[in-house]
Amino acid sequence: MEKYVGKSVFRGIAIGRISIYEKNQQQVKRVRVTDTEAEKERYAKASEMALSDLSDLYEKAVKEVGEANAGIFGFHQTMIQDDDFIDSINSIIETQQVNAEYAIAMTADNFAQMFSAMNDDYMSGRVADVKDVGERLISILSGKKNASVSGDESVIVVAEDLAPSETVQMDKDMVISFVTTQGSVNSHTAILSRTMGIPSLIDTDFIITKELDGKLGIVDGNSGVFIVDPDDIIIEKYKTLLNEELEKKQLLLSLKGKETVTVDGKKIRLYANIGNSKDLAQVLANDAAGIGLFRSEFVYLEKDRFPTEEEQLAVYKAVLETMAGKPVIIRTLDIGADKQCDYFEMEHEENPAMGCRAIRICLSRPEIFKTQLRALYRASAYGNLAIMYPMITSVREINRIREMENEVKRELKSQGIEIGNPATGIMIETPAAVMISDELAKLVDFFSIGTNDLTQYTLAIDRQNSKLDTFYDSHHPAVLKMIKLVVDNAHEAGIWAGICGELAGDTSLTHEFIAMGVDELSVSPGLVLPVRKQILDSRACN
Ligand code: PEP
Ligand code: MG
Repeated sequence: MEKYVGKSVFRGIAIGRISIYEKNQQQVKRVRVTDTEAEKERYAKASEMALSDLSDLYEKAVKEVGEANAGIFGFHQTMIQDDDFIDSINSIIETQQVNAEYAIAMTADNFAQMFSAMNDDYMSGRVADVKDVGERLISILSGKKNASVSGDESVIVVAEDLAPSETVQMDKDMVISFVTTQGSVNSHTAILSRTMGIPSLIDTDFIITKELDGKLGIVDGNSGVFIVDPDDIIIEKYKTLLNEELEKKQLLLSLKGKETVTVDGKKIRLYANIGNSKDLAQVLANDAAGIGLFRSEFVYLEKDRFPTEEEQLAVYKAVLETMAGKPVIIRTLDIGADKQCDYFEMEHEENPAMGCRAIRICLSRPEIFKTQLRALYRASAYGNLAIMYPMITSVREINRIREMENEVKRELKSQGIEIGNPATGIMIETPAAVMISDELAKLVDFFSIGTNDLTQYTLAIDRQNSKLDTFYDSHHPAVLKMIKLVVDNAHEAGIWAGICGELAGDTSLTHEFIAMGVDELSVSPGLVLPVRKQILDSRACN
């Protein structure tokens, strides 16, 4: 029996046979060619085929893991059509008189090195993607198919790292866990395993050998442990834990349809956070009473140009109609910091988390803001919409937002376009907003506390830097006192206050939040029922 430690990206337990995912490692040879034009032609044809494969993969991924996660295939398509990428391959074929496979491998390697040297989390995460693109083109040229999971037994897939195209091509019903020796918490394996809801480990400290294939494995996503060849005692222990988990899940399902009300009778708004309309299935399956945070920046991140008013309207309308009259809080775009969109052409910033992001972009580039506001107000005719603004620090910002809202409303009315009457809320995620929450509360309809950023800015710790995880204490008394202050100020002004940061789903704090008077909790869809369970035996003392 061997035991290894990895970083868990999704909790839970999996017991099953190990399947080593072997990439079709391309052995690319450098071959001298005389007809470079013919070679460039071969490459161009392979590109076309790759683009068509990617568009099929995109469709498949949208169905399986949602638009935001499928968006990565858009990146692959962009990469294949990138002028620099194409020029580099053609120029290597031409100047070195070599085969297309070799020119592609060289180019993909060069781009991968360039990305990893960029010292940018997003671009480092794209290293696997550019290699994936290179391998796809070479596979097509060599007529080989990529390896995949086969067989009819559910397996724990073990790999160095998995490219998105590899995970999406797998038969998901057969995969109960991923264990990789590389990868980061932002890698696609991590994102996809969270979306699929299966326990997975990344950055696990072992060396993959052929002997592992077919052995029994246990993935403990609760403690980040991977056990190979467990003895009978360990197998029994984990089987019991697995059964307990399944029972808990069953028990939680019995809470579906129940009202979310405290012991002393206060109704709590228990909502879900989403990134795109594909997440709605999970919202409905977990019985959330509404959407407490729709991160609308994903509508922008999924595109390689600004989404038009009509495109945005279609997305917002679909969410509102699916929620059929339940509250839907759409947050205006929160681009910047960790969420970058090339086409925004933002200037390089030394400290982007404190730079031009979210509402700052909207107020300094009103044409972008106005398009989104028009789409939101038009969508408001189709359901119960509230609009929420991120990263607020001042009264001046709210006043400017109100002016813009009024301008858009006037414009739409004068065009004879029907609109609803959406509430206006703000995120409280800066210490400045907390300290002036008494004043802000008089100007808006609700507060939603963004504890992810509030913790970052209060403790002066980059939320993206995993090396500082031990210092990033979201239970810090400073953060909890701030939440209490915000709730008190909201109630003083007669408005409600909720939490939509990750802390909202931390069930060890639910009782404390409810006792503080928090009126709303908006959590990942999968946490709705566990949080409801906590609320049902908590007291609001109202
Ligand atoms: C937050 O900061 O807590 C929040 C909900 O917003 P985001 O995580 O999107 O920055
Ligand atoms: Mg935030």
